[in-house]
Amino acid sequence: MVSHSSRIELSQSALKANINFLRKKIGTDVRISCVVKANAYGHGISCYVPMAEKCGIDHFSVASGFEAEEVLEVCKPETRIMIMGILYDRDIPWAIENGIEFYVFNVERMQRVIEIARELGIPARIHLEAETGANRTGLTFQETGKCLTLIKKNSAHVEFEGLCTHFAGAETFANDFKIQKQYRTFNEFYALCKKRKVLPKMRHLASSAAALSFAKSRYEMVRVGVAQYGFWPSPDVYYHHLSANGKNSEKALRRIFSWKTDVMDVRKVSEGEFIGYGTAYQATRDMTIAVMPLGYSNGYPRGLSNRGHVLIKGKKAPITGLINMNLFMVDVSHIPDVQPGEEVVLIGRQGNGTINVASFTQTTQLVNQEMMSRLPQAIPRKAVR
Ligand SMILES: *Cc1c(COP(=O)(O)O)cnc(C)c1O
Repeated sequence: MVSHSSRIELSQSALKANINFLRKKIGTDVRISCVVKANAYGHGISCYVPMAEKCGIDHFSVASGFEAEEVLEVCKPETRIMIMGILYDRDIPWAIENGIEFYVFNVERMQRVIEIARELGIPARIHLEAETGANRTGLTFQETGKCLTLIKKNSAHVEFEGLCTHFAGAETFANDFKIQKQYRTFNEFYALCKKRKVLPKMRHLASSAAALSFAKSRYEMVRVGVAQYGFWPSPDVYYHHLSANGKNSEKALRRIFSWKTDVMDVRKVSEGEFIGYGTAYQATRDMTIAVMPLGYSNGYPRGLSNRGHVLIKGKKAPITGLINMNLFMVDVSHIPDVQPGEEVVLIGRQGNGTINVASFTQTTQLVNQEMMSRLPQAIPRKAVR
């Protein structure tokens, strides 16, 4: 097979460490659903899902029917898949036939799903999403009542897998007043289910931040995204963990992901010459420059022009000039004997050097997720030890 311009390696041992840490922290009686939307936050669904299954994960959450199909293609037959977002009407029969769980957030959808399930003779596995304050998707109290009536009347056609909601900003402790209110509201929805005697198999509200820092919200399942990939959701959550455990640091969560390429060419540039487009970089001395075979069209942010670094022979090589569509150049004057074909680390570790995603974005964790989730699907992903 012809090689791509870069490659991503995923560490099975780092993932195992992360899942073990989460299990210990969250408790073994709480199910962990791994959120693998956005191509597993850029890690690559088809490579990542079997790796997570090896760590004992049997439930995956995605944002769309399309992503659910990607998981379905690579997961074990008994693994559960849950769609938290868009499932088009025309894809409902496909979801039901494949045992895929999905959110219901309006009454018309509930009615349609029951009709289709009855026609197929296969029960639909649904989760009722409650509106508790995020004002994205979710059923009001009244609508939930209607759905519960429909479920009760059609119990042969519906598996009531879960009652759920989503916290709007649990990673920032200044939002606590809002999160607590959502939590109380959610419990009222559950009380309604109890009153109607239509109980879900599971309650789930917590994403990584709440799963790590708001123990009461864990219930029967948590939907863990960013933490499984080795990122603390926010400094708030990290320091909450440290103070709760009397620790000064915690290294249990490890980055799974390395992004690599190879030097495409090496050349000498004389003092006064310009490197790449325009006048973005002028050599202030005689330099040795290595050419990288990828650019912004391959997910390497253009914003790193004249700013970022890559690792070659374990040393940092600064970017010189603009990130082009498919190329960029780095200064290797201080690194002896760099040859074409030399391994380059774009994100990850090499020798004593490290480049992490945060150094790419120099800002919040949320931006980290943005950066990762934009890495093109075309970059090959491979599991390593
Ligand atoms: C993305 C998402 C999650 C996971 O969030 P993290 O903060 O990455 O853990 C959980 N639930 C829903 C509904 C989501 O959209």
